[in-house]
Amino acid sequence: MSSTSRLFSTGARHIYDTGDRLFTDAMRENVTYHCKNCNEYRQILSERGYSPDRIKSFDDLAELPFLTTLYLKRHKLTSLPDKKLIIKATSSGTSGSRSLVGFDLKSLMLGKDMVINVGLYHRLWSARPANYLIFGYEISKTNTTAVSKTAYGFTFFAPAAHREYAIKTEADGFTLSWDSVLAALERYSASPFPMRTIGFPSYTFFLLEHMEKNGIRFKMPKGSLLTVGGGWKQFYTQKPDKRRFYELAKEHLGIDENCIVEFFGAVEHPILYTDCRCHHFHIPVYSRVIIRDPDTLIPVKNGEVGIVDLLTPMMHGCPLSSIVTDDLGVIHDEPCPCGAKSPWLEIIGRVGVSGIVTCAAGAETLLKGENV
Ligand SMILES: [Zn+2]
Repeated sequence: MSSTSRLFSTGARHIYDTGDRLFTDAMRENVTYHCKNCNEYRQILSERGYSPDRIKSFDDLAELPFLTTLYLKRHKLTSLPDKKLIIKATSSGTSGSRSLVGFDLKSLMLGKDMVINVGLYHRLWSARPANYLIFGYEISKTNTTAVSKTAYGFTFFAPAAHREYAIKTEADGFTLSWDSVLAALERYSASPFPMRTIGFPSYTFFLLEHMEKNGIRFKMPKGSLLTVGGGWKQFYTQKPDKRRFYELAKEHLGIDENCIVEFFGAVEHPILYTDCRCHHFHIPVYSRVIIRDPDTLIPVKNGEVGIVDLLTPMMHGCPLSSIVTDDLGVIHDEPCPCGAKSPWLEIIGRVGVSGIVTCAAGAETLLKGENV
């Protein structure tokens, strides 16, 4: 069994254990593979005089040349022929340049092991059907965004009694209607099944604010979950105090703070980060995060803010071993009361790169059209 397969078959109870040996071996395996199978990647490494056999200890990974998300939006890098890429996902659903990421069967199987175990650890799996409210677009031939696929995938953690999409595809584009969302909430509140939501935190927060403004309250069935993912993107300036978010959810949907789960991930780094009961994104065994000084790109100490570099050996279709995003973050290594041993990543904003249009920016346009 390869080191990568062993890493991804880590049991649910140990997904936040520390220990770098297996991860380092899996990274060397992955980088060696991409170097052999992707001409452009091999060229990038050789231009820097880098050889994968230099990865001997975890610290050597800081020297591994990384790709940026911006670079991936402009260059399509693959390590497998197109026909082997079973699922293709794009980073942006609206306009602007996109990253295209292809998943081959092996990466999908690794991803499946990860999702099963992350779901078990965080108690997301349930045999009880749930009514889903999805703050996203329905998957269609023209909508291949990773965000929509992830949202759809999420509706399998518990069998779907019903799926309601908050954003509908119309002939002339997308429309979002609070009225249909509120009608779904009213139906769900009277259902014997719990409700689960999934979507950008901004949508969920704006919905709660809309309910507060209009004095609307529902009591969702016991076991209901609010799950948010995709980050705040262009909404950083409007990002509410998390406390206020939790208070609004309790007051307007009757959902407790411990039933609010947040995910983090990126199409170029499809690792499922899930917050713990203290709302920290612990770094799972499948990945590591290096925070780099934005000017020198040299790794900074834990606790210091810098640009986020995400590493994982999961992907085989594309050389996504080490990806620098335009997020600014910090790694915390102080003990967390939840008991997970690994450090946690806090995303605190974005680097001011102009011209980046994301799904969330498209969402902002939609929401503005609705006078929220
Ligand atoms: Zn924790």
